[in-house]
Amino acid sequence: MSVKVENVENVDVLARTQLVIETALKKMGYAESLYELLKEPLRLLTVRIPLKMDDGSVKVLTGYRAQHNDAVGPTKGGVRFHPDVTEEEVKALSMWMSIKCGITNLPYGGGKGGIQCDPRSMSFPELERLSRGYVRAISQVVGPTKDIPAPDVFTNSQIMAWMMDEYSHIREFDSPGFITGKPLVLGGSIGRETSTALGVSIVMNEAAKVLGIPIQGAKIIVQGFGNAGSYLAKFVHDAGAKVVGISDAGGALYDPNGLDIDYLLDRRDSFGTVTNLFPNRITNKELLIQECDILVPAAIENQITEENAWQVKAKLLVEAANGPTTTIATEILTQRGIMIVPDVLASAGGVVVSYFEWVQNNQGYYWTEEEVNERLHKILVDSFHNVYRTSQEKNVDMRLSAYMVGLKRMAEAVKWRGWV
Ligand code: NAD
Repeated sequence: MSVKVENVENVDVLARTQLVIETALKKMGYAESLYELLKEPLRLLTVRIPLKMDDGSVKVLTGYRAQHNDAVGPTKGGVRFHPDVTEEEVKALSMWMSIKCGITNLPYGGGKGGIQCDPRSMSFPELERLSRGYVRAISQVVGPTKDIPAPDVFTNSQIMAWMMDEYSHIREFDSPGFITGKPLVLGGSIGRETSTALGVSIVMNEAAKVLGIPIQGAKIIVQGFGNAGSYLAKFVHDAGAKVVGISDAGGALYDPNGLDIDYLLDRRDSFGTVTNLFPNRITNKELLIQECDILVPAAIENQITEENAWQVKAKLLVEAANGPTTTIATEILTQRGIMIVPDVLASAGGVVVSYFEWVQNNQGYYWTEEEVNERLHKILVDSFHNVYRTSQEKNVDMRLSAYMVGLKRMAEAVKWRGWV
């Protein structure tokens, strides 16, 4: 059954994802039965995790692990700790991971996990008990050749270390390949921390070349100054671009002559906040419609909507954040000739280096930073041009093209296995 939506702006993230998957599969001529298989994860595990709090009370939290499809190989994707985690969101995110792995040709399907909780209000020991409890709850369905978790919103290398340790205890052997995003001493990969931002800068470069925008001197606005946004601002600043605007949850800074990125990085706190130090802020809404060549949403979803898409001045929109542009805004920008490098391509650098980490763990042989960055560069340049070429040949927008490229290998693997 197909997704029928009157107003795609108002439906949830899962229905929006299903709509693009359905359109992409139809455009490629696949049977309806394939869509029936891929419109939902193959497996969704819901778990209840009892958590002993420091004051002696017990809280029971809900967690999930979704595995979209494993026809290509084990599933892979992050675990988020956030009060807004829902079953629908985890499902949709596992599907986005499938698309990212397909575009970058990694031997994985998509997975995702989450726990409904607020880690900002929890102590360190509570977080450790929660991380270990989650692994105990999902241990039967995950593993280095089954489903490999990673960090996501509000989870980090310390949480990955606890989870790896718990899994290794359960299995009774050291299992670094169970999870990625680990600290270096536990088998993490050099370059993982900055990989998403580096990936964004690589695909931005390729898109800018296609559009004839020299990065040297290009005016760039970055919304969000956390892991993705701040490292990206640094990379493009060092490459000679002029970062004219940045923002965080508290507001935005804009200077047409360029901001002092090194100074801002130095003053930023661990939550990616810096603008509160400056009285001359503008709002995030205002920032998105300022003069620039390249606009990079790197904060939260639904920032470019039908309300502001007509006023965006950039010639190129590179989606470092997941889901920053609504369906109608995508149509408006495409109609205006503004190129969009969609999230599933632009922010794929993180999962590519996670894959490198897993390969290194399996080999027990660790690569240099140059090797990591060179391999990341090649994969993302090829991925960008594959998506761009498909969009030109099939006359579709970059988002639909990315989904077509991202789903093709999974569709073929499903057919070869004889599933549909
Ligand atoms: P982060 O938590 O490190 O930083 C988020 C930044 O956004 C902070 O500067 C915060 O102040 C700002 N922010 C929060 N609410 C805002 C608002 N309403 N308006 C403007 N700014 C706001 O997060 P991150 O890891 O940098 O992730 C940012 C986006 O990139 C998310 O959509 C995430 O899913 C996506 N992403 C990140 C990675 C990664 O490896 N970090 C990988 C893929 C996708």
